[in-house]
Amino acid sequence: MGDAHYEFADASAHERFSSCRPIRLINRDLGYPIAVVDDDGSYLVPPDEDFEEENFLATQTRAWLGAVQKCRRDGWPRVENKTSRVHGVGVFAAQDIPAGATIGFYNGTVYTQEAWDELERLGESRTDNFLFNLNDGAHGIVLDGCFGKGINALKFLNHSCSPNVRMQEVFLQGSWAVLVVALRDIATKEELSHDFALHTEDANEAETPCTCGAAECRGKLYAYFPWDDGDDDDEDDGNDDDGNDDDDNDDDESHNGTSSNDESQDKSDHDVQSERIEESDATI
Ligand SMILES: [Zn+2]
Repeated sequence: MGDAHYEFADASAHERFSSCRPIRLINRDLGYPIAVVDDDGSYLVPPDEDFEEENFLATQTRAWLGAVQKCRRDGWPRVENKTSRVHGVGVFAAQDIPAGATIGFYNGTVYTQEAWDELERLGESRTDNFLFNLNDGAHGIVLDGCFGKGINALKFLNHSCSPNVRMQEVFLQGSWAVLVVALRDIATKEELSHDFALHTEDANEAETPCTCGAAECRGKLYAYFPWDDGDDDDEDDGNDDDGNDDDDNDDDESHNGTSSNDESQDKSDHDVQSERIEESDATI
């Protein structure tokens, strides 16, 4: 199931995916999908608080690589696609999967944000489902999980407001990758789901009901984040991360526009992180 396999729309996409950037520094208020998390799986929020305290990425990189190598050696947890009560086809555990297990890579085709935006503008993007945006505000990547030789059963992960897996961005062996990781023990036949953490600036879309069926369901599929020009909140994030952008891309463009204003701040953040990654690579 699980090994990383990405195709690239062009050389720029490959170059960007092979760079320590982008790493997103997550602002919880933005919708927080996949990204750097702490040991408990909580999303890191403020770079200026947590990031200065520890060599976080180096530690994480070593840990994830160890987990991946174990799966390569012993086999990845088995999952299968079946009809879901939540939506269409889903991903189901074909064996018990313990909390913290790496289940596989979310693969697909990688675009630069600019190339993707152009496809959208021309109406030539092949899908707007199964997307991930990996975006540091200046070096955006779109990962289309629908296409590419490496796509696997995990592309059908459905949303839940009470998820049992998360998407973990990792920088392993010279490239970015997205790992699916169990948040808790998952029993055989249980559907895997993650929190898409969708957000929109469209008030009508914000009314879309969520049908995940979780007891803790938020009721709405999208969080409503109207983007205001001149809103100081934007300065903190520089990370418009969209996670699995299920069926809407309209908000992506404005997010990108917003985050690109934060380039200078991002650069300083990323310089620090790049050093940490290089350090970690050297010790693997
Ligand atoms: Zn829900």
